Amino acid sequence: MSHFAFVSAPASGHVNPTLPLVEELLRRGHRVSYATGPATMDGPVAAGASPVVLPSELPPDMASRGEFTADQLAVTLEHYIDDARTSFPVLSEHFSADRPDVVAYDSVTFTGRMLANLLGVREVSLVPTFAENESFSATQVYLPPTFDHTHPRLVAAIQDMGKFARGHTFLNDPNLMFGYVAPSSVVFIPREFQLSGKTFDERFHFVGPSLSSWQVAQEWSPRSHAPVLLISLGTVFNDRPEFYRTCIEAFGDSAWQVVMAVGELDPDSLGPLPANFEVHARVPQVAVLRHAEVFLSHAGMNSVMESLYHGVPFVAVPQIPEQRVIARRAEEMRVGKALAELTVQALRDAVSDVESYRPQAAAMSRTVRAGGGAAT
Ligand code: UDP
Repeated sequence: MSHFAFVSAPASGHVNPTLPLVEELLRRGHRVSYATGPATMDGPVAAGASPVVLPSELPPDMASRGEFTADQLAVTLEHYIDDARTSFPVLSEHFSADRPDVVAYDSVTFTGRMLANLLGVREVSLVPTFAENESFSATQVYLPPTFDHTHPRLVAAIQDMGKFARGHTFLNDPNLMFGYVAPSSVVFIPREFQLSGKTFDERFHFVGPSLSSWQVAQEWSPRSHAPVLLISLGTVFNDRPEFYRTCIEAFGDSAWQVVMAVGELDPDSLGPLPANFEVHARVPQVAVLRHAEVFLSHAGMNSVMESLYHGVPFVAVPQIPEQRVIARRAEEMRVGKALAELTVQALRDAVSDVESYRPQAAAMSRTVRAGGGAAT
């Protein structure tokens, strides 16, 4: 029996894909301790892991970000360094007393790698999105051409990160954020969906997504025989009242049965709801996808994988550069289509167009499942 330490960012999109792996390790008789922020601890605990609560939160004002500017990247880096300064002591104290055999860390969470190096144990990177290697950088793909690499606040944040890394002499590689390639990575997307997929060698295990038992146990039943349209912008970039209002106008009193997740937004602010709409803060997404015909999604990687797992084609309404790239990849594979503009007509056209992508989405569902997921 081995002891696995998981370390993850406090974001559902990063924690959720790791949970089937936690369950699988526990099923095989290993022990799992899971370190993340309080906001995302419920999932690991429900999966059976022992919690190690970190003082970690998401970077500030995440939901209001759209473009990838130098200033925003600087704020994010500053946040990660601040977080590491308070989280790493918690990690090192806890796991020095209860040593793991392996540290499995979310690929954006460099404190996990620091922990593995400090303790001199094996490290595994967990990648919930496009993987990166020596020749492919997703970050470079996301950067706009106007990106200001010389922005003073960004330069200062990178220098501070370097200083922070040099203060930890046990680190194998002082490069904390960009360009580091772990000796072993588990990637929760299939190689077929990966950009530059052929350049990834045996260090990368493209197991694809799998569902955790709480997702399998989720239940949702359609109210009628009408085709189901699921609408969700995920858990972070979802404060978009104008988007939801336009959806209501586009699909209100239509032949669709619409299930819409709106996050923290007050549903009353959307005005009266048509009879064919049900609106919730959060929906059991996987359960709804089992019945859905089309998904109108922000194209977060987990949502896209869950959609394809169920063979559901989607219309992408990307909110950040990463999601725009995911939407483009889906268009190349003809399993999804990006919304051209936020108008009633464009929404109706896009949803109607992707209905014809069902055969490709069904083929992709077979590919996604063939990755084997956590059990591999
Ligand atoms: N999710 C859910 N119900 C909701 C909204 C989201 O269960 O109403 C889950 C969804 O199934 C996925 C995750 O939250 O597993 C969202 O991850 P994704 O990468 O798609 O987007 P993010 O929230 O990180 O932007």
